[in-house]
Amino acid sequence: MLKFDLPTNPDVVREFATSVVRTLRNSGHVAFWAGGCVRDLLLGRVPSDYDIATDATPERVIKLFRRTSHVGISFGVVRVLGDGRSLEVEVATFRSDGEYLDGRRPESVTFGSAEADATRRDFTINGMFYDPITCEVIDYVGGLEDLESRRLRAIGNAVERFEEDKLRLLRAARFAARFDLAIDGATRHAIELMSPRVTVVAAERIAQELRRMLTHPSRAQAMSLARDLGLLGAIVPAMLSVSDEQWTRTSKALARLPADAGFSVGFTILVADLGVEEVTKTCNELRLSNEERLLICWLVEHADAVDSANLPRSSKLKRLFAHSNFPELLKWWRAEGQAKVQTVEFVERYHHDLPDGPIDPPPILNGRDLIAQGYQPGRSFSGILEAVRNAQLEGAIASRDSALIWVRDYLKAVDERG
Ligand code: ATP
Ligand code: MG
Repeated sequence: MLKFDLPTNPDVVREFATSVVRTLRNSGHVAFWAGGCVRDLLLGRVPSDYDIATDATPERVIKLFRRTSHVGISFGVVRVLGDGRSLEVEVATFRSDGEYLDGRRPESVTFGSAEADATRRDFTINGMFYDPITCEVIDYVGGLEDLESRRLRAIGNAVERFEEDKLRLLRAARFAARFDLAIDGATRHAIELMSPRVTVVAAERIAQELRRMLTHPSRAQAMSLARDLGLLGAIVPAMLSVSDEQWTRTSKALARLPADAGFSVGFTILVADLGVEEVTKTCNELRLSNEERLLICWLVEHADAVDSANLPRSSKLKRLFAHSNFPELLKWWRAEGQAKVQTVEFVERYHHDLPDGPIDPPPILNGRDLIAQGYQPGRSFSGILEAVRNAQLEGAIASRDSALIWVRDYLKAVDERG
C-alpha cells in the first residue's frame, strides 16, 4: 500500500471523521474514508463532507455511536452526529449494488467487501479509500494513477456503468470540468454513444446536476463539454439550434461570470438565445423551482431593458434599478463583455451621478391622502398614484405639499383634456 502525506486540514469535521474511523477500528471493524473526500484531499482541496465506508452493519454502527440518524438505512447508510453544530458524517456499510433494472437505481443492495464497494462506484477518481490513522490510500481501481495523469475514467466497462445509471453521464461532464480532467477514450466514447438516453433520469436529478455545474467556477467548461458530448442537446433539445458562433458567445459569458454567481443567472446565459417562451418551457420541463423560473424569465425579458441609444423614462429606469432581481441582470450584462459594455457603463454612471438617498423611496402619497384631500375614491386612484410616483422618481416633486399641488394640476389637465 502506498503511503501518502495528505495536506493537513485542522478542521473540526476532519477531526470528527477521524474519530469515527477510530471508534469503528477499536471495535474490530474495517473503516476508511471513501469516495469524494479522498479525491478532494489528494487534489489538495478541502472536502465538502466526509463519507466513511466500513464492514460494520448499520445495526452495529447505530450501537457504537451515541447520536445517529437513520434516513438512509435501506441503502446501508447511517449518519453519525457529533455534539452540537452541524457535525456529521455518513457511515456506509461496504456494499455491492444489485441489478439496475430501471437504469437509474439499484434494485437491491448486498453488503460486501471493501473491493466490491470500490468497484460499484462511478469513476476511478471517486473510487478510492483513505485510512486517516495510518495515512494510507487504498486504491483498488487505479484512481491514483488517473488522478496523476488527470484522467476521468469509468470503473470497469464504461458502457455497462452508464447503462446502470444514466446520471453518471452528467456526473462525468461535471467532474471532468471541475477538476480539469481529460475523459479517457473508452469512457468518452460510451458517453457520446449513450448521451441521448440521459433523459430517462428524473428531471429533478438532471436539474440538480445542472445546478452543481452552473454554480461552480468551471461552469463554462462543464457546459461546453456537455454540449460536445451530446448531453446538453439531449436535455434541452432546443439548444441544438444554437450555432457554434452563438455558443462561443454563450460560453465566453459563462466564463466571465463571477466565481460565486448563482444558478439562475448561469442558466439564463445558457438558454437566453432560445427566447422567453422556450425558456419558460425549458424551466418547466426541468422542474426548476418557481423562484428560479421567475428570476430566469425576468432576466430574459429584461435582457435589453437598458439600451443607451433608446433610454426609457427615468422613473422606469429607477424602478428597474431598484428591482430585487437587478443585481443578477447587471451580473449578466457584465458577463456579456463588449456587447453590453455601453449598457454597463451607463448603469454605473447613473448610479454614480445619483444624489444620495434611496433609489426606491417610499411613495409620497397614498389613496388615503387623496381621500383626506376630498378626492372621490374610484376615480382611477391607482392611475393618479402611479403618475405621482413617476413624478416623484423623476424628481419633479419632493414633498407632500408639492405632491398635492401636483395632483391638483394633474387632474385639472386631465379634466380639460376631457
Ligand atoms: P461532490 O464533491 O460533488 O459531493 P462526490 O464525489 O462526493 O462529489 P457524491 O454525489 O457526494 O459525490 O457521492 C459520494 C461518492 O459516492 C462518490 O465519490 C462516488 O464514489 C459515489 N457515487 C455517487 N453517486 C454515484 C453514482 N451515481 N454512481 C456510482 N457511484 C456514485
Ligand atoms: Mg460528496
